[in-house]
Amino acid sequence: MDTAPTPSAAHPVDAVVVGAGLSGLYQLHRLRGLGLRTVVFEAGDDIGGTWYWNRYPGARCDVESTSYSYSFSPELDQDWVWSERYASQPEILRYVHHVADRFDLRRDVVLNTRVTRAAYDEDRHLWSVSTDTGRTVTTRFVILASGCMSVPKDPGIPGADSFTGSTYHTARWPHEDVSFTGKKVAVIGTGCSGVQTIPVIAEQAAALTVFQRTPAYALPAHNRPLRSTEVAELKARYPEFRQAQRLSRGGTVFEPPTRSALETGEAERTATYETAWASGLLSGLLRTYTDILTDEKANETVAEFVRSKIRSTVTDPATAELLSPRTYPFATKRPCLDTGYYATYNLPHVKLVDLRTTPIETITRRGIRTSDGEHILDAIVFATGFDALTGSQLAFDIVGKNGVTLREKWVDGPRSHLGLVSAGFPNLFTVLGPLSPSVLTNIPVSLEQQVEWITDCIAYLRGHGFTEIDATPAAEADWCAHVAELAARTLYPAVASWYTGANIAGKPRGFLAYTGGLDRYREKCDAETRNGYTSFTLSTPPSSKAVSTRRSAPQSSLGL
Ligand code: NAP
Repeated sequence: MDTAPTPSAAHPVDAVVVGAGLSGLYQLHRLRGLGLRTVVFEAGDDIGGTWYWNRYPGARCDVESTSYSYSFSPELDQDWVWSERYASQPEILRYVHHVADRFDLRRDVVLNTRVTRAAYDEDRHLWSVSTDTGRTVTTRFVILASGCMSVPKDPGIPGADSFTGSTYHTARWPHEDVSFTGKKVAVIGTGCSGVQTIPVIAEQAAALTVFQRTPAYALPAHNRPLRSTEVAELKARYPEFRQAQRLSRGGTVFEPPTRSALETGEAERTATYETAWASGLLSGLLRTYTDILTDEKANETVAEFVRSKIRSTVTDPATAELLSPRTYPFATKRPCLDTGYYATYNLPHVKLVDLRTTPIETITRRGIRTSDGEHILDAIVFATGFDALTGSQLAFDIVGKNGVTLREKWVDGPRSHLGLVSAGFPNLFTVLGPLSPSVLTNIPVSLEQQVEWITDCIAYLRGHGFTEIDATPAAEADWCAHVAELAARTLYPAVASWYTGANIAGKPRGFLAYTGGLDRYREKCDAETRNGYTSFTLSTPPSSKAVSTRRSAPQSSLGL
């Protein structure tokens, strides 16, 4: 039975959450805890966000499952048992469903409903949120929990419509079984999605051709089933583990490096890299030395180590060389965690096409034509990525104060304070958005931190009778400058990647995430809470505008 609420102008809500993935579901749970009438709009026909959409063969988390999970409920930690070190997409989706059931979240999620517009009413301090199903709801708060990787990138290759075979995008994989058995298949793209799916598709396909523009740095996951003894051991110390995660630099627990790669002898350095390689951790190599992301020479030591591993795995030296990244430093594009990726190229039916030397000219009726000739295919898989971080917020019309749209405001790149509130767009919060640690961290830890900050902020507003919070332009300018200044100390900004917006034609270029670490970011957010939100303007209900001041507000409940 559909028990989802049907908000309308006549039945307003206190908060609208956009997206029912990990962020949106937790935001709903927390806002309910405050007593807010909250509705979640979800475009998909089920909950799960990233783990609902990205169901391509081989899709799997690349953070250990015991870390990549909610920490807010000790009972949930005890109750749920992960089966593998790195959980597969179906298992994570089962986990999301388990959480939704356990906390009775579904009744406030409206599925198959895409938000098309949100417009702010300055006189009433209310947002009007419209959807593609014709609903419009009035709400005090809007929380964009629509994901940092949720708008798939159109590869923009001419002729795609003329292909008579099947086409797939990794981020929009069909829910029905897809069989590649006996088929001639192409995969375009060798980022994390391509690296995960290529070995699995190769197991089925009669012939697999990988079209590579830029090779990835892929590290072995060493995935395996979890032993019951290690699960029991972790459960016994989960509270301390979760606390350590919260206080960590990136949402996973590790000893930070203390030495420079360049001040370490080659033999010792190689031994350190071998240990990190064997660890099966995505950030294992990054954590070896202090200067991997700040010094090109230091970075080259680890980059060359990865290339040596590729050469020792891939038997054909020419293919090994094509797979070896040489045009950008290690980890300045996100590294990938793989299971059998490089070894796949040793299979006789797997071929690598280097698009740097033989670019795609067009997709034809029968396949893909490069400058070297036509490849006849039955299916094409686009693993071409996303319009990351800003894509989901700019996907619909958000109209703030003075009729300014978010698209207009962000025409030269995103601007917000703490990555949470963009000046001129009051009461609109973003989870995992640009200018926050998001994609550089273990996502559940980051999203919990931001959801909890937003919840505390809303509680404060309600408790003090404020109906509007907006970032001050000065605080926003300082934050944007701080984010850019920290990024400039790293090797990240110089590289064309989705981190810098360079993968999307026409997207303004700039490093999109906060590189200062989740620990430092949390401290800055907590300072705002402690100090009474001094970087924000807080206002009382419009009817009492004459006394609108951030300190002398009356104590009253929100009321709509
Ligand atoms: P991606 O990293 O952006 O990779 C896209 C790939 O497609 C790149 O190799 C790119 O080449 C290529 N490409 C794009 N357009 C192309 C075109 N027109 N012609 C030829 N090649 C083209 O996207 P992704 O692999 O989907 O991964 C995105 C992010 O999602 C990851 O970095 C990660 O943060 C996340 N992710 C996580 C997991 C996980 O395990 N947790 C799994 C998958 C994805 P260029 O590099 O030359 O542009």
